[in-house]
Amino acid sequence: MFVTTLAIPTHQESCLKEITHEVQRAIDESGIRDGSCLVYVPHTTAGLLVNENADPSVANDLVAALERLVPRRGSYSHAEGNAAAHIRASLIGASQCFVVSQGRLLLGTWQGIFLAEFDGPRQRHVIVSVQG
Ligand code: ZN
Repeated sequence: MFVTTLAIPTHQESCLKEITHEVQRAIDESGIRDGSCLVYVPHTTAGLLVNENADPSVANDLVAALERLVPRRGSYSHAEGNAAAHIRASLIGASQCFVVSQGRLLLGTWQGIFLAEFDGPRQRHVIVSVQG
């Protein structure tokens, strides 16, 4: 098994940052040709998702829809002031598992892997584990 941690800076309070190429680079580095790849975000106000990477308006719509679904201001108990970010991250989830075949991530034509930032900007970590 190969494990590495990616350092990913985000530049907005709420955004989707594509990390497909970084994950593929980790698989390349692992030397593992066939198996699976777990991508995990060890944060409580960020998540990981798979969606369209061809048209950036899809990512923008996703962020905007989550902002409407879970508004930043509301009657929350969490005193830190970022309850909405925790809730959005919980809705998205913290990990995804992918198939690796012949050294490549098996993704659909329009799919990309995104770090979902809900309390940025900040430096995030993404753990990539490749199993042969
Ligand atoms: Zn908090």
